[in-house]
Amino acid sequence: MNKKRLVDEFCKLVSIDAPSFHEGKMAEILKTYLIDLGFEVYEDNANEHYNSECGNIYGYLKGTMEGEPLLFSAHMDTVGPAIGKKAIVKEDGRIESDGTTVLGADDLSGVVAILEALRTIRENGTEHRSIEVFFTIAEELYLKGSFVADYSRFHAKEAYVLDLTGPVGTAAYIAPTVMRVEAKIHGKAAHAGFEPEKGINSIVIAANAISKLELGWIDEETTANMGIIEGGLATNIVPEWCTAVGETRSSNHQKALAQVDKMKQIFMDAAKTYGGTCEISVVDGGQAYEVDKNHNVIKRFKQVCDELKIDVNLIKTFGGSDNNNFYSHGITGIVIACGMNKVHSTGEYTTVDELVRITDIVEKLMTSRR
Ligand SMILES: [Zn+2]
Repeated sequence: MNKKRLVDEFCKLVSIDAPSFHEGKMAEILKTYLIDLGFEVYEDNANEHYNSECGNIYGYLKGTMEGEPLLFSAHMDTVGPAIGKKAIVKEDGRIESDGTTVLGADDLSGVVAILEALRTIRENGTEHRSIEVFFTIAEELYLKGSFVADYSRFHAKEAYVLDLTGPVGTAAYIAPTVMRVEAKIHGKAAHAGFEPEKGINSIVIAANAISKLELGWIDEETTANMGIIEGGLATNIVPEWCTAVGETRSSNHQKALAQVDKMKQIFMDAAKTYGGTCEISVVDGGQAYEVDKNHNVIKRFKQVCDELKIDVNLIKTFGGSDNNNFYSHGITGIVIACGMNKVHSTGEYTTVDELVRITDIVEKLMTSRR
């Protein structure tokens, strides 16, 4: 591997703005890279679903050896503050932002590990499996990119999703279903001083519903939360509109669905009680999964880490990733730690060492014999 090329590439990609739905520039450059590496490249039509700058980028490279194809995936978008990112490489190998934005190691550390592994393999002429690469848009918005991907193109049944915090060697093999629930409540506006009796207070409806919701831990594998509330225009107007947004997650898919139904019903009932209406929209953030510890995807990962003398730690995650959507389409994968720390904050950082280690792992996976 070329450590300098790896770090330079990381810094270069960090400097490209790519908030969710604005991954156009990032997609262009990644497409060029994959084509240069000999991939057949295809951009899907995810952009038509969301009016985003581009679709997901899919690449296929035929193997030079026997073995099932393997899928490697990372997302192109970055959470905010995401504009004007700069990677600062410290003497001790720590890489951080200038403190005003996130760094974007989530998920560019994964992107560069895939690229450097491929470049190294190509340079050395190492035999490799058939490799699929999938760079997604809008992962940070409830996995929207991978939700609408064209899975008919995929060959691999085994996936490594580079999108996890924790020491390199950590891998998540259990993840929950995550559902976002948005209640848009419609009341009726009226002057609050002259004729309040003519109004229907949408904020009161929301408050009534939320007070009846069970939140926090619902049971040992299910949680629920209301996280955003917005409504009203002025103190002298009975508010016509109020929006309340929450989520539920569970490692049991059916329980998540049941919890969503409960939340829906409570909002609808409250709206009805006060003479208002309520529209509920639900965003499916991917289905819960649990990978068998004897599955090849885990065995291969363990074997590769053993060879590299990297400690393996299999964990359960409470977060969703593109892997949830892959699972729904018959692809079994794990989410592996790729050198991202303090993600979703301006204190986010990675280290040169971590980038090197995850690149080693990816290269070994791509060239693994069994
Ligand atoms: Zn991520």
